Order: sequence, then C-alpha cells, then structure tokens
Amino acid sequence: MKYIDEFRNVNITKKIIEIINKEIKTPINIMEVCGTHTMSIYKNGIDKLLPSNINLISGPGCPVCVTDINYIDSAIKLCKNKNVIICTFGDMIRVPGSKSSLNNEKVNGANIKVVYSPLDCLDIANKNTDKEVVFLGIGFETTAPVIGLTIKYAYESNISNFSILTSIKTMPNAMKNLVLDEEVFIDGFICPGHVGSIIGINEFDKLAFKYKIPMVMSGFEHGDIACSILHLCRLIQVKDYRCENLYKRIVKKEGNKIAKNIIEEVFSIDDSYWRGLGKITDTGLKIKEKYKKFDAQIKFNLHLSKVEIDRSCICSEILKGIKNPEDCKLFKVKCTPQNPVGACMVSREGTCSNFYKYK
Ligand code: SF4
Repeated sequence: MKYIDEFRNVNITKKIIEIINKEIKTPINIMEVCGTHTMSIYKNGIDKLLPSNINLISGPGCPVCVTDINYIDSAIKLCKNKNVIICTFGDMIRVPGSKSSLNNEKVNGANIKVVYSPLDCLDIANKNTDKEVVFLGIGFETTAPVIGLTIKYAYESNISNFSILTSIKTMPNAMKNLVLDEEVFIDGFICPGHVGSIIGINEFDKLAFKYKIPMVMSGFEHGDIACSILHLCRLIQVKDYRCENLYKRIVKKEGNKIAKNIIEEVFSIDDSYWRGLGKITDTGLKIKEKYKKFDAQIKFNLHLSKVEIDRSCICSEILKGIKNPEDCKLFKVKCTPQNPVGACMVSREGTCSNFYKYK
C-alpha cells in the first residue's frame, strides 16, 4: 500500500541505520515526545541498532502516563456515586490513583464503561436518563477535537445528564518547559505526528527557532523513525534550528483547520497538572463558559486535593529523560504491566511498559 509499504520496508530502514552508524559520531540526546513513537522504537528494536553515542529519551507524550493522580482520585470519587456512569478509554481503567484504580472500583460494583469514542457517551446518556454520564476526557490536541465535537452535539441536543471530566493537555508548551528545565539535556526533538496532524508545523517551528533546538515531525513506521533520527542528527550537527516536516503524508503546515476550529470554539487555554511534572503553565484545555454545564468538575463540585505519591516510583524523572526504568528499584519487582505501581507501566505507550516488554 502506497505511503505505508515503503516505510515498513526493512531493507530501506537497515540502510538508513547503516548511514546513521557511519555518519553520526558525536554524542546526541534525542527525545521522542510521543508514546506511540516510544512503542515503535522498542517494538522494532531501533534502539538496539543505533550507535551508543545516540541516546533516545522517551518524553511525556503518553496521555495515560501524564494524567495527574488527583484526576484519577476525582474519577474514583465520582464512580462511587450510584447515580453516575463513568465512561472512559480502556487504558485509563488500570491507572493507579492514590489508593485505588477504576478497575478496582469496577470489580467492587462501580458503573464504569469502556468506550471507543466520547460520542458513544451521548447514546448512553439518552438510554439512561435517570443517571449522570461522565466521560473521562484525557489526551492531547489529538483527542480534543472529538471531545469538543461531543460537547457541541450535547449542547445542540440539549442533553442534560452528560458531562466531561477534562484533563486535556497541549504539547508545544510542555516541550518548551522541558527545554528550559536545567536538569534536562535534549539536543533535538522527534515531534508527535498525531499532534502535528491537528495543529500543524508552525508552533513547533517557532519553538525550534526561539530555543535553538532542531526538531523533526515524524510518522510512526520504523522507516519513518530511522529517517527522522538521521535527519534530526544532521540538523543538530549543522545547528539548523527549525522543525522539518518528514510526515507530509499526514501533517500539513497549517494543520487541520476544522479540528482547530472545534478546539477553539469549545476550549480555552489553561494551566495543567502533569503526573510527575507538576503544574505547567498554559498546557491544558478547559471548557469555555458557554459549555460549562458539561464540565464535570463544576457540575459535581470536585476539588483537587494534595495527595501523597509513592516516592519509590521515579516516573517523574523518567518522563524528563533523567533516568530510565531500570534505575527504579520497583521495576519488574513490585511494578509490572499486570500490577503497575506508576502510570509509566500502565499504558502500552509508557516507557516502563516498553522497557519491560522489549529491553
Ligand atoms: Fe514507576 Fe513502575 Fe516505572 Fe518504577 S517501574 S518508575 S514504579 S512505573
């Protein structure tokens, strides 16, 4: 299939890796921001084929991994209300909160449904008019349009028993925060192609220029990733501070205007709490005043409280690339994909989960 087969061609990928091994001799730290890139790198063994001077760091782009513990606790509090049906994407159900997880609560009888789209929640709300249906709206710019669309449909259909507990995050300012963090050493970014398909290249390009850090927008096949690493190393070596779009088959310079319009109509920029990274200015989306009756935090008067986290879990350092999972004393001992302690072990995209499976 055109645009897929050439990026899955093992011989082409091997040749690109050979060029990297011959050409790139200086130490280079590359952060792949997106969890899907992390998964592809480890699944395809790309990390093992690169020279040791190229250090791949997995960034905070797995939506489940960066969902704040307070958010999970709020969802758990809501699901204890017999009048509430919680709807969520599948990965969220196993994420540990401070004392429990949605999975534990489901086993104990909470009404929790896994959905594939927030739009499914409107059907559930229409069929359960005696209940309140709450969707757990997490993710990045990628999931924001369909969540926004669901809110618009609910508004236009005057559905009153539906709301969303939002924790949607935005990526460019989070990357800026990492660049400015003195503990973090990154020479270049592999940018999240899914986010790029919505917001385009421009924001990343401005960031690259302003903070003097080269970037490439990459697809997710092994050929995409090998090509992105080679190209990014070349940009780093010649100090070319821009975001090069290597995922043109999906990512347009201006992004997806329809999706961007929905985001702009329904959400405004807000600060956001990132698991392991804390509060980061202007990295979240909150529901605008016009649609606030669909904001579960307002509807159920939920207040975030400070919670104690398991200090042995080093997800925060892993999400910044300061440490790797093997530095965690719980890794493979107390923390496994079957019994995750921290969020990085929960999702297939999480760094700890990928180290567990493929390293
Ligand atoms: Fe946290 Fe588990 Fe990863 Fe350790 S192995 S950092 S406990 S998720």
